[in-house]
Amino acid sequence: MGESRGYHEIIEALDKLEAKDSSLPAPLQLYRKILSIQAEADKRINVRQPELSQGLIDESVRQGRPLLRFGDLDLDWGLVGELVDKATSIFSSYTTPPGELPGNLKHLTPAMLEEAARAWYEDRELSSSLAGAEDMAELAIFTALKPFLSRYAESLINLVKQEYWRRGYCPVCGGSPDFSYLDKERGARWLLCSRCDAQWLFQRLECPNCGNQDQAELSYFTDDKGLYRLNVCEKCRCYLKAIDLRVAEGEVFLPLERFLTMDLDRQAIEKGYTTCSQAGKLKRMQGHEEVPRRAGG
Ligand SMILES: [Zn+2]
Ligand SMILES: [Zn+2]
Repeated sequence: MGESRGYHEIIEALDKLEAKDSSLPAPLQLYRKILSIQAEADKRINVRQPELSQGLIDESVRQGRPLLRFGDLDLDWGLVGELVDKATSIFSSYTTPPGELPGNLKHLTPAMLEEAARAWYEDRELSSSLAGAEDMAELAIFTALKPFLSRYAESLINLVKQEYWRRGYCPVCGGSPDFSYLDKERGARWLLCSRCDAQWLFQRLECPNCGNQDQAELSYFTDDKGLYRLNVCEKCRCYLKAIDLRVAEGEVFLPLERFLTMDLDRQAIEKGYTTCSQAGKLKRMQGHEEVPRRAGG
């Protein structure tokens, strides 16, 4: 797959879609607005890569430890703050009534911002100072950190020996997958990180959320063309969307596919399933599953 960061390519694809259908559904319009502030920020990002030798990377991979702890991230807090402000102002135009921004989000101090970003990254509850605004705060922090995380993922993922990872969470940042694909070459299954867009190889018949390998409890729904799949696990009731690149025509942007397949989310939720990324995060928040971290975080 090509680089996943292609903000401008995705914005262009959305523009084309809008021209073709002479309108764009509201969630896709929102996504395009977010992409444009991230693209703008991306030009100003210059991350210092953590000092990780290939030996240390191999060891982390073998032990199932994601490569980046929060402390390893070289974040430009001025830019993060700007992005959070822009994101909340975009999101608030989609709330009812529009323009309503929770007070504690309007007065986010640098210390609060840093604490909230760390909590989000480490899958902990946000501080009580953000009570009532958690969802929007998490979305805004995700929006702001995404361009940084994507940069790290791009440079680090090629250093990960895929055959030795094959876990249900991201080798770069520890996030859960929210999309997947079967590759063109062999139909191998790859997962896409919901946070940094890193891609990693995974078992065809295993639930990334609970590790269930019982074929009787794993199945998928597909469309007529067999292009998209909804993989579900009956054991933990989570779902993961997939695209089969052996069937896909034209250029495919995986981050965009997440949004183009929102109808699959609707169908899955109607059937009573939860998305794998949400299920994974909840599990880690409740401490049922500890993603091993490098010591000294
Ligand atoms: Zn990740
Ligand atoms: Zn499962």
